[in-house]
Amino acid sequence: MGILEVRDVSKNFGGLKALSDVNLSVAEGTVHAIIGPNGAGKSTLLNCLVGKLIPDTGSVSFEGQSVLGRKPHEINQMGISRVFQTPEIFGDLSVLENMMIPCFAKRDGAFELNAYGRMMADGEIVERAEHMLEDMNMADKRKMHAASMSRGDKRRLEIGMCLAQEPRLLLLDEPTAGMARADTNNTIDLLKQIKEDRPITIAIIEHDMHVVFSLAERITVLAQGTPLVEDTPANIKGHPKVREAYLGE
Ligand code: ADP
Ligand code: MG
Repeated sequence: MGILEVRDVSKNFGGLKALSDVNLSVAEGTVHAIIGPNGAGKSTLLNCLVGKLIPDTGSVSFEGQSVLGRKPHEINQMGISRVFQTPEIFGDLSVLENMMIPCFAKRDGAFELNAYGRMMADGEIVERAEHMLEDMNMADKRKMHAASMSRGDKRRLEIGMCLAQEPRLLLLDEPTAGMARADTNNTIDLLKQIKEDRPITIAIIEHDMHVVFSLAERITVLAQGTPLVEDTPANIKGHPKVREAYLGE
């Protein structure tokens, strides 16, 4: 059984079938990519995994425990972290302050704005955050205003903020969307590094085939809300159905 098991999940928006009977098993310790054309239901599926959406039917379990009916922060505490399509960082805060927030939340259960002063004076949290920034090769940017960083660095910070929560499953929704090639390649290297450094499972939704084939060990192709095929990258590349549905050939 995989670390993540999705069984017969369906989700409708009014009359629109965004997901129909989706089955997906993500093996522990792998990088599993979910690809498919625009509107295939990839983000909807991800939202069903993190409690942002509730499937109409089916089940989702993580490490054998059902995530259905749990709130996003509860699922997060179970060990699933998610990187959003647009970086979700606090632009007005410094890079270090941003990193302190998930470190604080990991230790104390939650971060609320009225805890800001207490957090800033907390030496243990500062130390953890600095350590995480070193891990992310961002120590030199610690004093920078987060908003003034490049898109690639914002993404790097955001991924680091997810890792500070020490997830066992990291979910990424098109992490290289809108990035220049150099930043995309840096993101690929970063994810490879993350994978090497810790026991973690990564499920990644990605449009850029260069990213997919650089990282993934398994690929699920979603088309019109249903998995079309799941296989290794080598087999996916030559699959006639995939070429037809996804690569437009
Ligand atoms: P993908 O991420 O693969 O591009 P999405 O999961 O975002 O696809 O969308 C799947 C389908 O569901 C699309 O047709 C989209 O327009 C529709 N959809 C997604 N979210 C909503 C929503 N909140 N309300 C209505 N329709 C939605
Ligand atoms: Mg999407």
